[in-house]
Amino acid sequence: MENSDPFLYNANDIDFMLLTHAHIDHSGRIPKLYNEGFRGKIYATKATCDLCQIMLPDSGHIQEVEIEWKNRKRKREGKEDLPPLYTAEDALKCMEIFEPVEYDSIIDIDDNISVRFNDAGHMLRFCNC
Ligand SMILES: [Zn+2]
Repeated sequence: MENSDPFLYNANDIDFMLLTHAHIDHSGRIPKLYNEGFRGKIYATKATCDLCQIMLPDSGHIQEVEIEWKNRKRKREGKEDLPPLYTAEDALKCMEIFEPVEYDSIIDIDDNISVRFNDAGHMLRFCNC
């Protein structure tokens, strides 16, 4: 239920996002953020981008199925329908702002911010060799 809570900030105020890994507790509300106007780049490794390409639309599908079930119950109670948190289609759209980056490379976000994605021992690492 907390997932549908409003963000405590304006999505347009965010310049960019560093997505350390694809786990849904980190990435699950990206489509909602996108729907609310966030259009900055989401920097993530290619493996994370690939996983999000699968997981986020699946999550959107789950949102759609769950709200359908809830809305049937709400209808019986005479309540109005609620929209899904986001749809599978919304989730696919937000993939346009993902920016795949190389592992272990320094990425210059701007003149003052540089980052490097490396092992943190928490997620899968894929090798392209
Ligand atoms: Zn995690």
